[in-house]
Amino acid sequence: MTKWVYSFGAGLNEGRADMRNLLGGKGANLAEMASIDLPVPPGFTITTELCTAFYKNNRQYPDDLAGQVEAALARIETAVGRSFGDPKMPLLVSVRSGARVSMPGMMDTVLNLGLNDETVLGLVETSGDPRFAWDSFRRFIQMFGSVVLGVDHHRFEEIIESVKIDTGAIEDTALSPEDWQRVVEEYKELVLEETGKPFPMSPKDQLWAAIGAVFGSWMNPRANTYRRLHDIPADWGTAVNVQAMVFGNMGSDCATGVCFTRDPSTGENMFYGEFLVNAQGEDVVAGIRTPQPLSKAAAKSGEVSMEDALPDAYADLCRVRETLERHYHDMQDIEFTVQQNKLYMLQTRTGKRTAAASLRIAVEMAQGGLITRQEAVMRVNAQALDQLLHPTLDPKAPRTLLSKGLPASPGAASGAVVFSADDAEMRAAKGEAVILVRIETSPEDIHGMHAARGILTTRGGMTSHAAVVARGMGRACVAGAGGVSVDYGARTLSAGGKTIRGGETITIDGATGEIFVGSVATVEPTMSGDFATLMEWADASRRLKIRTNAETPLDAETARKFGAEGIGLCRTEHMFFAPERIGAVRQMIMAGDEAGRRVALEKLLPFQRQDFIELFRIMAGLPVTIRLLDPPLHEFLPHGDQEIADVAEALGQDVEQMRRRAAELAEANPMLGHRGCRLGISYPEIYEMQARAIFEAALAIAEETGHPVVPEIMIPLVGTRRELEITRAQVERVAKEVLDRSGKPIDYLIGTMIELPRAALTADKIAEVADFFSFGTNDLTQTTFGLSRDDAGKFLPHYVEAGILPKDPFVSLDIEGVGALVRIAVEKGRATKPNIKLGICGEHGGDPASIAFCESVGLDYVSCSPYRVPVARLAAAQAALGGE
Ligand code: PEP
Ligand code: MG
Repeated sequence: MTKWVYSFGAGLNEGRADMRNLLGGKGANLAEMASIDLPVPPGFTITTELCTAFYKNNRQYPDDLAGQVEAALARIETAVGRSFGDPKMPLLVSVRSGARVSMPGMMDTVLNLGLNDETVLGLVETSGDPRFAWDSFRRFIQMFGSVVLGVDHHRFEEIIESVKIDTGAIEDTALSPEDWQRVVEEYKELVLEETGKPFPMSPKDQLWAAIGAVFGSWMNPRANTYRRLHDIPADWGTAVNVQAMVFGNMGSDCATGVCFTRDPSTGENMFYGEFLVNAQGEDVVAGIRTPQPLSKAAAKSGEVSMEDALPDAYADLCRVRETLERHYHDMQDIEFTVQQNKLYMLQTRTGKRTAAASLRIAVEMAQGGLITRQEAVMRVNAQALDQLLHPTLDPKAPRTLLSKGLPASPGAASGAVVFSADDAEMRAAKGEAVILVRIETSPEDIHGMHAARGILTTRGGMTSHAAVVARGMGRACVAGAGGVSVDYGARTLSAGGKTIRGGETITIDGATGEIFVGSVATVEPTMSGDFATLMEWADASRRLKIRTNAETPLDAETARKFGAEGIGLCRTEHMFFAPERIGAVRQMIMAGDEAGRRVALEKLLPFQRQDFIELFRIMAGLPVTIRLLDPPLHEFLPHGDQEIADVAEALGQDVEQMRRRAAELAEANPMLGHRGCRLGISYPEIYEMQARAIFEAALAIAEETGHPVVPEIMIPLVGTRRELEITRAQVERVAKEVLDRSGKPIDYLIGTMIELPRAALTADKIAEVADFFSFGTNDLTQTTFGLSRDDAGKFLPHYVEAGILPKDPFVSLDIEGVGALVRIAVEKGRATKPNIKLGICGEHGGDPASIAFCESVGLDYVSCSPYRVPVARLAAAQAALGGE
């Protein structure tokens, strides 16, 4: 015989907290609370397995269920000395659903089940309170009618309203027992009218109908949608909990409430919650009456705390709070009822909390000895840590949504709309907060992006220029907002029929991708001492090293402040964004011959050398990986007439010639075009200049500090061993020349990015000429999927929403596909060179799920944008601890 029913309370606890898969969260915790002698009204749980069996068997219950339910019900009757359907001493029960994880969309609760025309009189007698009894009956018909029988709940409300109008009552509480009796009669008529059947009067029928409604709701469309969005398998099923009723609405010595064992928004170790005297569960959430605080300390003037109103029950509740935290080792969210001064526990579960609260609670619990430091590290959601480093929208602030794009870089920012980088810079210089709005950004927008509080683009994905640069700078960014159209000429942006002019204010939330009209208040992050403490504990647990993607001194400094242990990717093309440099880069690209390029490169050399000197100085001996030039050409070609004229003048050529050259260089698929090592092979003088700058800078810093740096030179977009061999030889030639001339040795490494499928598949060959690999998972994702990084924003959000892809693969590594290539490359690389250094520097290096994957394949480090460094430190620790 399968056991479908588990009892709890009154001395028989067949479940435990760790049985949540079988009993659902609510059922498992009710049994657990009862087993540690907390006051839980007796009841039973019908298992999730029954739900699964029910659906497998064409919505039929197994034969042995009814007997088990009867027996468990009889046990409750004995325990409370009341019987189901007994007109004198009626037993009333609640019926509540309870899946493994709480799931809105399913039938939730029916209270007071067991009432009918006869038992209500018994309740009048035993309670001595006719008003309470009739009110309970009407509540029951209302809940049962709407959630089990499907009658629109507004129809019930209308009846109460009309009775209130007839009697002149304003509050529900002013209605007399007779008024409620009338409501009950009208409710019954409504049910008959709507369902064609009288309201069921047999408590057994009521019970089975309610149980059936819970199981039926598991497959309703709302629940199905919720499950799909949250990856909850349909075969988990839900449990049903049936429990003896206790009443918080039987008079002024009764109450009901919900509370958290600590403050869920700040994490402060104070009892936090609300209660209502003389009320039933749903009254607290319904908002009809204003709930009151629990403790005297939290009560404002005019409020009556539970500590004052029900001191004994409050003292009991405080003891329960302590017991629960000690028992569960975590902050709990609890529901309770007080019936005639006696406290009953109706639910406990792990409390939801903000990122700030989660951090504080974890650290304080570890310091208080309630959990270990490793447990504290595991408790804080690494992704959510990001919230603590950026301003967020004030949850209480009103807002009007304009549109939505991709959440490209976290943080919330309000400011005046500007449409050009120059405008952004000019207005920001006057102290104005601005949001730079562009169709897409390009390198020459960099100064404007820096000056702006936030960036909004209508095109481009999560690894587009705007997204990558904004993340690096710690600016809020919403990218690829396809629903917004920008008219540079008219200086307007419009979405959903609304038009915003330049100078008007918008707010963007880079954590959600939302765009709001006007200014929405934000809250500044506060980095507490707890943050540093948790980071220290995380560092003690992790194996992966954490580096950063940085090319400016500011980025490098920020990253070090956040604990980066080196630079894993210095994108040298990003070093040329400044206005005084981009001209020289353009000349280099547009020059028709080697001589022309060399002239331009000569101009760039001093800048590069100085850049590297600064980076080496800041990183003070930590490893620095410098990637040689990898410019998607379209980002650097001159665009407007003025830019073309400027380059023509600098190169001493005519404008027409320049236009032709630009057309010649334009590519249909620039991300797959003449970039990376392909450029270095076509024009060796470019990588020569960069190598020279690196070695000269390394020598200068060795001289200055006495600590030699070990530069790691990285060749991008390699697809074959030969490409790396050629470019490696170029770099080695320059190294020899510079070092021979100085007479001083410098150690260095030359490696490559693995960012093309061919490179991954032939990693054994490539490893013969590489000292290290760094996985460029942005390009590897692009090329494995065959999707364009810059254009995917048009359809990827739909793919994710429709469940075609579980997540945006540019955000979280596609472990099945792209991950398989990474795994192959790791194995092949190590087969050739067991100690080859392995890292990742795509945007995935800052994503917790991707970091867990990196840990599992044994990479040496992950590299991410500066503001993600703390996230990566925590995620790496969690990956290491989780893998134990
Ligand atoms: C990558 O492709 O993953 C990478 C880090 O390089 P980029 O984003 O500059 O192409
Ligand atoms: Mg790349």
